[in-house]
Amino acid sequence: MKLCDHTALELAEMLRKRQCSAKEIYLDTLQRAKEKQDSINAYITFNDEAEKAAEAVDNMLADGKELTLIAGIPIAVKDNISTKGLRTTCASKMLSDYISPYDAFAVERLKSAGAVIIGKSNMDEFAMGSASDTGYYGAVRNPVNTSYSAGGSSGGSAASISYGGALLALGSDTGGSVRQPASLCGVVGFCPSYGAVSRYGLIAFASSLDRIGAIGRTVSDTFILHNIINVADPKDVTMSDIFCSFNLKGELKGVKVGVVKELFDCFMDDDVRSSVMAAIKLMEKNGAVIKEISIPSIRSAVNAYYIISSAEASSNLARYDGIRYGYRSDGSGSLAEMYRKSRSEGFGTEVKRRIMLGTFVLSEGFCDDYYKRAAALRRRLCAEFNEAFEQCDIIAAPVYPQAGIKLGESKDPIDVYSADVFTVPSSMAGLPSISIPCGKNKEGLPVGLQLIGNRFCDNMVFDAAYGYELVGGGIND
Ligand code: GLN
Repeated sequence: MKLCDHTALELAEMLRKRQCSAKEIYLDTLQRAKEKQDSINAYITFNDEAEKAAEAVDNMLADGKELTLIAGIPIAVKDNISTKGLRTTCASKMLSDYISPYDAFAVERLKSAGAVIIGKSNMDEFAMGSASDTGYYGAVRNPVNTSYSAGGSSGGSAASISYGGALLALGSDTGGSVRQPASLCGVVGFCPSYGAVSRYGLIAFASSLDRIGAIGRTVSDTFILHNIINVADPKDVTMSDIFCSFNLKGELKGVKVGVVKELFDCFMDDDVRSSVMAAIKLMEKNGAVIKEISIPSIRSAVNAYYIISSAEASSNLARYDGIRYGYRSDGSGSLAEMYRKSRSEGFGTEVKRRIMLGTFVLSEGFCDDYYKRAAALRRRLCAEFNEAFEQCDIIAAPVYPQAGIKLGESKDPIDVYSADVFTVPSSMAGLPSISIPCGKNKEGLPVGLQLIGNRFCDNMVFDAAYGYELVGGGIND
């Protein structure tokens, strides 16, 4: 067993017992990442400064200094999260040579905790997609079976955890992009409450939905990373001051688990349905109380999500004009022509589709029919979730209708969007949720269980997931 095959918590202990050094952990993980780069394509950029960061941790250890639990742990950072001095491309030609002048708040926190940022992970362009196949740097393959996608948009982050090319990772989740790739790669992915982790330095896709989330091999690994970034930051005015405490008990007894009947009426693969049902049964067997609940608007959330997220994207991405930001075309023709060419050449097909959709739904004459109706649905959904959480502590659901996404098959965008039906409801309501492995389909592809909590009950989500893991769920071998 190589060092990179351990969990982050095991390595933290081994470091303290001097059974290995941070530099050894880093070199071992980097070797794995490089070996797998051709077949998986999890990384866009490796960090040349990482070795120095690992050595600094070893020096701190030698000096007898106190370490955080993530000190010396190799961490992948999704390539839409700003890293000072290191490329942040959003997997777009538009930003292919962009080097951020500052660190995202979450990255600042990782660095001051002694984490070793191994590199920037591959993703869908500007985080728009579900299979990490819309980006400029090629698709991310699933380490479990390379004919399949790693999921998306944080596919590189989830894949790297699955094959040992990083021990922990940061992803971003706007409508499922941390949870869904975690589910498809058989790892754990957590999307915090909106306002629990600063968005400062996360390149915006849809600002009212974007969140930075932690990915790890186990619930406790994921929790230690979340704990480092779950800190107040005045630079993000949407932040709250409610934080987790480091205390996972994993108690399932008496936990009221809601099963939303509208979600289980949706189409999903048989293997997904049976794995998720078995997970819910296992929780019940260990003391959880299962309750069927109803959230009437939940299935419409996906329609409203694509209207709202595209509207916000069209506004956020207006800044990439080739003058102030982003790729510039050769500059021939008029100024208007230059804008047009820079944006046509700099953005890929999916991003252009979202910009056009978003511009349309905000345009005069259509805004009332689309954007305003979607916003009203979002408010109704939040109210329905509030009522639901009067009947239960946590909601259990699938993450994605399929266990695997075959790469290279052309798909209708509407079908791809519709498959986000399980992840976007909690995104729209700002709720915390986690994806944890709960089984495999016949081909051995992982299936994830999603647990959703009430706003700022992030701790409860972790605790229920940990409870499930303790009783034998969440195993990814
Ligand atoms: N699949 C969703 C989309 O394409 C989610 C993306 C995300 O969470 N960044 O919008």
